[in-house]
Amino acid sequence: MVKALNLDQTLEPVLKTSPAAKNRFIYSRNKLHMLPSSIGSALTHPLIAPKIPRAGLDLIKSASGQSDESIESFITRRFGKGMSDDLISAMVHGIYAGDASKLSVRSTFGMLYHLEKDYGSVVLGMLMGGGTVETPWDTVLKEKIVAKMPDLKDFVDKTSIYSFKDGLEELSRALERDLVASGRVDIRKASIVEKLDFDQQGRTVNVSIKGQDPLQVDSVVSALPPQVLYSLLPNSYPELIQNPSVTVAVVNLVYNGDQARLPSPGFGYLIPRSENSAVNHKGLLGIVFDSCSIPDQDQGASRDHTLKLTAMIGGHMFEQIVGNHDGVDANPESSSIKEQELLFEQIAVDAVKKHLKIEAIPDIVKVHIHNQCIPQYLVGHLQRMQTLDQSLRADYDGLLAVTGAGYLGVSVNDCIKNAREVAEAVVSKMGEEEENGEAQLVGKQDAVTGLERSWFL
Ligand SMILES: Cc1cc2nc3c(=O)[nH]c(=O)nc-3n(C[C@H](O)[C@H](O)[C@H](O)COP(=O)(O)OP(=O)(O)OC[C@H]3O[C@@H](n4cnc5c(N)ncnc54)[C@H](O)[C@@H]3O)c2cc1C
Repeated sequence: MVKALNLDQTLEPVLKTSPAAKNRFIYSRNKLHMLPSSIGSALTHPLIAPKIPRAGLDLIKSASGQSDESIESFITRRFGKGMSDDLISAMVHGIYAGDASKLSVRSTFGMLYHLEKDYGSVVLGMLMGGGTVETPWDTVLKEKIVAKMPDLKDFVDKTSIYSFKDGLEELSRALERDLVASGRVDIRKASIVEKLDFDQQGRTVNVSIKGQDPLQVDSVVSALPPQVLYSLLPNSYPELIQNPSVTVAVVNLVYNGDQARLPSPGFGYLIPRSENSAVNHKGLLGIVFDSCSIPDQDQGASRDHTLKLTAMIGGHMFEQIVGNHDGVDANPESSSIKEQELLFEQIAVDAVKKHLKIEAIPDIVKVHIHNQCIPQYLVGHLQRMQTLDQSLRADYDGLLAVTGAGYLGVSVNDCIKNAREVAEAVVSKMGEEEENGEAQLVGKQDAVTGLERSWFL
C-alpha cells in the first residue's frame, strides 16, 4: 500500500540494527532493565536468569490440549508465574493495554499456542523453525507481492517498525487522496450510521445515516467497532459484544534544550502488571522515546536538542485511575475531562522524573483520552469469531462482511491486511456478478464475511 500510494519517499523505517529497535526496556524494581538481545545475554539477565530453571520445564512438559486459555495461564503453565508476571504482562500492556490474566493466548499470541500444539514445547518448536501462523490467503498475498516487488522481503526482514515523516496519519491521508482522485469513491465524513436493513430478496442493504437521506447499497463491509455494529443490526449476535474495549490516555511530552536527556537510547519501556502498576505507577503502561525511536521525523537545528516522549496510561486500569466505572464523559468541555487530562499529565511528568531521572519541565504537553479504543480479545474469542462467520454467512449470504480491530488482530498491519483481503474478495464477487450478468451470484458457500481466516488461526 505504501508503494501504491507513492509514500516510499516519506517512509521512516526503523532498522532492526538501530538502538531504537534493539534497546527495549522494562521498568521493574525501581530501575530500567534492557531486554536481552541474545540467548547469551538472557542467561545473565537479572530479570530472566532466575526464571530459567523453571522455564526449562517447557522442554519436557506435555501440551495441555486446551482449545484456549488466558495468556497468564499459558505462560505460567509452561514457563512459570515469574515469566508471566514480570515480562509477558508488560508486553500485553504494550500491545493491548490489557490484562494478561483475561486475554486469550490463542487470539493474541497465536504463535505460542501453535508451537505447543504442534511440537509439544514452545522452545523446541522455535528451535525447529515452527510457529508461523499463515493462512492460505497470507501465502497467496505474500507470493503476489514478492513477485511484484522482489526487494520488499529484504526490506521487511531488515525493518523493525515504521512510520512516516509526518506520522502514521500520512497513510490514511494518502489513501483518501488516492481514492477520491480515482473518481469512483464517495467518502462521507462525520456521518453516523444509525441502522442497517437487509432486503434478502432484492439483494440490497438500506443504510440509515443521521441527518442524511438513506443509502441503498449492494453489500456492506462494516469496519465499525463490533459493539456499534451490534446496535445497528436487526439480528442479535452475542459474539459482537463479548469483548470489552479499554480506554487509553496518551500524553505527548516535548522537552526543548539540553536539560532533558534519556538515560539510554532506545525504543522505550513498559511496566509489568506485577509492579502493582495500577497503584504504584498510577496505571502507566509504558513510555515511548519518540525522538529516539524515529529521529528523522524531526528536522532543523533543534532536532538534536529536543526530547519527545509519549506516555500511555490506563487501559485495563483506566477506571481504577479515574475512580469511576463509566469510562470518560463524551463532552470535551466537561470539567471531568479537563480534570482527567490534568491527572494524566501529572502521572506522565512524575513518571519521567522518577523512572528517567528527567527533572526538566516539558515545553509542550498534549493529552488525548482515547475512549474504548483497544478491543480486548477475551478467552474463546477465536471460536466466537468462527460462530459469527457461520451466522453471517447463513443470515446475510454475502450482504454483510466485517473487518477492523474488533475481529482478527488489533495492529495497524493486521487491520490493513484483513481489510485488503475482504475488499479483494468482495470486488472479486462483484466482478463475477457483472461477468455473468446476474444480480444474485454470491452463493452461500462463497459469501464473504471477513472472518474466513478465523478457521486457520
Ligand atoms: C494509544 C494507541 C496506540 C496504538 N499503537 C499501535 C502501534 O504502535 N502499532 C499498531 O500496529 N497498532 C497500534 N494501535 C492499534 C491500532 O491503532 C488500532 O487497533 C487500529 O488503528 C484500529 O483501526 P480500526 O479502523 O479497526 O478502528 P478505528 O480506527 O477505531 O475505526 C472505527 C471508526 O468507526 C467510527 N464509527 C463508530 N461508530 C460509528 C457509526 N455509528 N457510524 C459511522 N462511523 C462510526 C469511529 O469514528 C472510527 O473512526 C494503537 C492503538 C491505540 C489506541
